[in-house]
Amino acid sequence: RSKSAGRNCFTIYDEAMSAELEARNTLEGDLRDAIALCQLEVHYQPFVDAHSSERRGFEALVRWRHPSRGLIPPDQFIPLAEETGLIVPLGEFVLRRACEDAAGWPSGLAVAVNLSPIQFKEAELFEMICAALADSGLPPERLEIEITESVLLERGVENLAFMERLKQLGIELALDDFGTGYSSLSYLTTFPFDKIKIDKSFIRNLTHQPRSSAIIASIVTLARGLDMSVTAEGVETCEEFERLKALGVNFAQGYLFGRPQPVGQIAFDESVRPSQRDAA
Ligand code: C2E
Ligand code: MG
Ligand code: MG
Ligand code: MG
Repeated sequence: RSKSAGRNCFTIYDEAMSAELEARNTLEGDLRDAIALCQLEVHYQPFVDAHSSERRGFEALVRWRHPSRGLIPPDQFIPLAEETGLIVPLGEFVLRRACEDAAGWPSGLAVAVNLSPIQFKEAELFEMICAALADSGLPPERLEIEITESVLLERGVENLAFMERLKQLGIELALDDFGTGYSSLSYLTTFPFDKIKIDKSFIRNLTHQPRSSAIIASIVTLARGLDMSVTAEGVETCEEFERLKALGVNFAQGYLFGRPQPVGQIAFDESVRPSQRDAA
């Protein structure tokens, strides 16, 4: 009895495995098509100066408008895109679109783009970024690049040289999701970051846990000493924002200031020029 039950278990397990594999293959094929068919969209979430509450820019966040499944968030396809290498054309699409869109915004507004560690392994990445800037006409000073600590784990020397080149162009570098990864403090002295983005998990506990306040206060002190600025991610309530201001963060981002939205739905003040794509 137990033997046959065991066999049944295996059968179920196998079936579940192959169903999962099939679903993955379908998703991979769909994602390949999505890139070719321009089903990817870039949405933008504002970030503000913590002191003045003025908008300083937007983070570009990719979404997939799937023909039958609707709008798919990045957490559901970025890992697959990274495993399959599709992150390279996907990442280029997002960067180019973000530069084109931002070139049409008021000149005080920056755009932040997330780069995957996999893109860092591409020899052509620097040239691609230069081409995206040149083709869009966006000044490099208005582009921020967000990377996570995982980029810094491998190929440290090459990545340092690459980051120095970006900085020489005038691009700003942000360390994303700070506090969730390995968080080696040596990264902060080795790599030329302008900005640290504190992960939203610390902000979530802020008003209930005194320890989160202590961590944020330490990050702010550390960043000041290193001449970097600090952004708090995932700010949802006024209480959180007030607390973060008192702790000295420089920028804030989160649902309190706006959800990620398509570029056509962003309200700019009257000084805005129509975007190049809308005008075309
Ligand atoms: P991230 O770069 O840390 O982006 C911030 C995420 O937090 C976004 O999720 C954003 O919608 C969400 N968020 C912002 N404010 C709040 C808030 O107040 N509360 C909560 N609960 N969440 C908030 P999203 O858009 O789902 O993106 C998830 C992650 O996917 C991003 O995290 C980033 O790591 C990755 N990603 C998104 N677009 C791209 C891309 O173009 N390229 C790469 N390589 N990764 C991307
Ligand atoms: Mg980010
Ligand atoms: Mg983040
Ligand atoms: Mg993230």
